Amino acid sequence: MKYTSTRDKSVSISASEAIIQGISKEGGLFVPKYFPKIKELVDLIDMNYEEIAVFIMSQFFSDIPLEKIKESVYKAYDDKFKSSLITPLVKVDDVFFLELYHGPTLAFKDIALSILPYLLKESIKINQITKDVVILTATSGDTGKAALEAFAHIDGIKIIVFFPKDGVSQVQKLQMITQEGHNTCVISINGNFDDAQSGVKEIFNDLEFIDELFKNDYVLSSANSINIGRLVPQVVYYFNSYVTLLKNGDINIDEKVNFVVPTGNFGNILAGYYAKEMGLPINKLICASNDNNVLSDFLDTGVYDKNRELILSTSPSMDILISSNLERLLFHKSQGDDKLLADKMNQLSERGVYEIDLSLNDFYGSYASEEEVSLSINSLFQNNDYLVDPHTAVAHRVYTKYKDLTKDKTKTIIVSTASPFKFGPKVASSIGLNVKDKDEFTILKNLSQLSKIDLPAPIKDLENKDIKHFNSCNKQEMKEMVELFLRRD
Ligand SMILES: *Cc1c(COP(=O)(O)O)cnc(C)c1O
Repeated sequence: MKYTSTRDKSVSISASEAIIQGISKEGGLFVPKYFPKIKELVDLIDMNYEEIAVFIMSQFFSDIPLEKIKESVYKAYDDKFKSSLITPLVKVDDVFFLELYHGPTLAFKDIALSILPYLLKESIKINQITKDVVILTATSGDTGKAALEAFAHIDGIKIIVFFPKDGVSQVQKLQMITQEGHNTCVISINGNFDDAQSGVKEIFNDLEFIDELFKNDYVLSSANSINIGRLVPQVVYYFNSYVTLLKNGDINIDEKVNFVVPTGNFGNILAGYYAKEMGLPINKLICASNDNNVLSDFLDTGVYDKNRELILSTSPSMDILISSNLERLLFHKSQGDDKLLADKMNQLSERGVYEIDLSLNDFYGSYASEEEVSLSINSLFQNNDYLVDPHTAVAHRVYTKYKDLTKDKTKTIIVSTASPFKFGPKVASSIGLNVKDKDEFTILKNLSQLSKIDLPAPIKDLENKDIKHFNSCNKQEMKEMVELFLRRD
């Protein structure tokens, strides 16, 4: 399997090279040159999560030896995950919630980031790189902590995380700034997630700076979902959840299902599309946005327009106007038209808007307002005794709208991306708890009592941790901050 770039099809590199580089030099994203096809779904029925993971990843990461992929999978998906199923599927009413948040940082980013360090280490070995790898990451709240947790204390790797100062929840922020590990660096930026992400992309495209780092024995890599090493591990749970439905007799073999995915950077839902291209029987991939509904507008109209105010919502991990991974979908859907993609992405960065005429029938898009999110959280709790976080509630509400509109009876899986305790105040107030003038930990304890769910251990620990990271900067200063940190030792 080789990888090419969405903006230059003459690029052809191995999986391990793509994992190290993160992003292509001309700014394009790496994509697989073809989709491996699953021949018989029944072959997967006796496999557990780890076995399906090995099966899928070995086809995409073909230059990493199978034994090493196995090793990586079993190290990644161990008892760090609270459920031995890794991603349990829970039936509520007539839908299934795919709970992706039982990892160490309580959000779905753990699934891919638990394995990325192992894949990266193997890739470094294969390519005989002797320099230190510097992971640069922009986060809308969850990637940052999951990456810090994954890469802290690893020799030969340094990790730098930029998060938007006012754009993350209190728990998300505390999780990051209390991070231990001499090789970690956490910086808040005066701006939003798009500023952080475009700042990081600019550093990746600053060839002079990269050269200077190289002379100082550093190579840059990325833990964002622009990295193909993030994307592929996410394909696994689409297959795993389908197989679980099969095993439980909830569907027949080859019966189609829908997935509803709360979407920001389009990484999670794109992994679902990859699963579909590989042969998983998926009817619709339902893209759920919050008030920053640039994606659902795009799916409606074919016009991608980021010229609007970014709204700070209670689902901060989806407060994004420049959705990176959409570029990959458009590349695949245009039969790999790199010229077209380079042109459209150029329009996006220069004018903030582009129009593209492609058939995207696999997808349906809609969005949910703050009020609708609260309604979903409340109704699921009152009627079904099931507690969801605001991101998952966005997906649930969008699914309700979809079902009302289309009358589609296809069995549906709602992808549940975070623990409700990561976003306590919104969840608590939605189910009628008084949160006014209460501090976050009190709210979380009240929420735990009312829902009869124990506070997850990673949150309990948080209250007593010391703050280790105090740095803050403007978007223009991100490069300097990187230099400062690397010069420290
Ligand atoms: C990152 C994140 C999302 C959005 O996922 P994308 O892959 O960026 O579309 C949704 N919910 C939560 C909780 C997240 O952390």
